[in-house]
Formats: sequence, structure tokens, C-alpha cells
Amino acid sequence: MSFASLGLSAPLLQACAAAGYVEPTPVQVEVIPPLLEGRDLLGLAPTGSGKTAAFALPLLQRLIAGRQHAYRRVRVLVLAPTRELAAQVGEVFQRLGTSCPRPLKVAIVYGGVSINPQMMALRGGADVVVATPGRLLDLLDHNALRLDAVEALVLDEADRLLDFGFAAERERVLAALPERRQNLLFSATFAPDVQALADTLLRDAVRIEV
Ligand code: AMP
Repeated sequence: MSFASLGLSAPLLQACAAAGYVEPTPVQVEVIPPLLEGRDLLGLAPTGSGKTAAFALPLLQRLIAGRQHAYRRVRVLVLAPTRELAAQVGEVFQRLGTSCPRPLKVAIVYGGVSINPQMMALRGGADVVVATPGRLLDLLDHNALRLDAVEALVLDEADRLLDFGFAAERERVLAALPERRQNLLFSATFAPDVQALADTLLRDAVRIEV
């Protein structure tokens, strides 16, 4: 199996090669084609499976294929439970996004540090925002970003997001997003609260388990 046979275009194939990815991992084989079609997805995949690139590659491909605005509007929003995971996911988007025709701007925002540099970083917009939920809400309260052009929402490690209180924050985050969008939910476990979140969020989702 090759990345090209999964439907990735030349800039993303170049990004894979530059990252040293020779062959897709099993989760990438399963996840990339339906995500390129715009499907919603429920993925039971642990860290280390290559799941980050599995969603970053097709979402980046859709970003570069879409209409480009002079002002960068947030089109992909990833929520992660911790600062460490947000940073890791953001770095994957940055690394894979460098081969794109127009360099993409990826903003990584999390709590526990001063909000001001993050507000400055969001001036002029961003194509991709990777955030922890509490800080995302703080930034929305400060009008530091708008989410009304988001085309894809990713909840990464949703089981841990729920552990950190995402149930309470969910409504406010979702209310800031357009109703029509692609939704991805990844979790290492499939507890009843994760199922309930998937039920409210996903439409006709592909389910993959690795
Ligand atoms: P993740 O499961 O997203 O945390 O990724 C685990 C590690 O696998 C990361 O260090 C990635 O850079 C690496 N990785 C992801 N996809 C591939 C691939 N197709 N080939 C080799 N390494 C990969």
C-alpha cells in the first residue's frame, strides 16, 4: 500500500516523503480515503498508531484544495486534552503543511501560560487551530478568533477530553461553529460517555478500530 493509492495529492506525498514516512500505517490506510471524501469518522486508535498524520494529511489536502481567502480564516479546529498533545498535533500539521503551495498558518493555544502572546499570534488569522478547550473559550471571550468558517472539527483523545471536563465546555464550543462541517472523534477507549459524545456530534460516521 502506498500513500499515493490512498488518494493523496502531490504536495502531501511530498510532505510524507519529507517526514520520512515510507508506507502508510494501518490506521492511515483506513482513515485517509473516507476523510478525503468528507466523511465523519469515529476512530479507536491509540497514540503511536500514526493517527495524527492520518487526519492531518487529508484535512491539509482539503485545505489547499479549497478557496483561499486573503484573510486567513480558521478552517480546521483540533481540540486536545493537554498542552503536550496540542503541541504535538500542531507540530505535525506544521511539518506536513510546509510542502503546501501556500504556507499554512497553524496556531497552537493552551492554558497555563499567558494569553497575550496567543492573542497576538492569532492576529491576521490562522488556517488551523489546535487548542485545549478552556483556553479556546477564553480566546473566544476575548474575540481573539472566529470559528464561523470551520470546515472540520477534530476531537483528539476524546476520552481524556471528557476527563478534563469537556462535557461542560462542549455546548459553547459547538455553538461557535457552523452547523455544516466534518467531524472526527478519536479515542483510545470507548466508554459510554464517549459513545454519547459521538452520538451527538457525528453524522453517518465511518468507524475504524486499530
Ligand atoms: P501518532 O500515533 O500520531 O502519535 O504517531 C506516532 C509516530 O509515528 C510519530 O512520531 C509519527 O511521526 C510517526 N509516523 C506517523 N505516520 C508514519 C508513517 N506512515 N511511517 C512512519 N512513521 C510514521
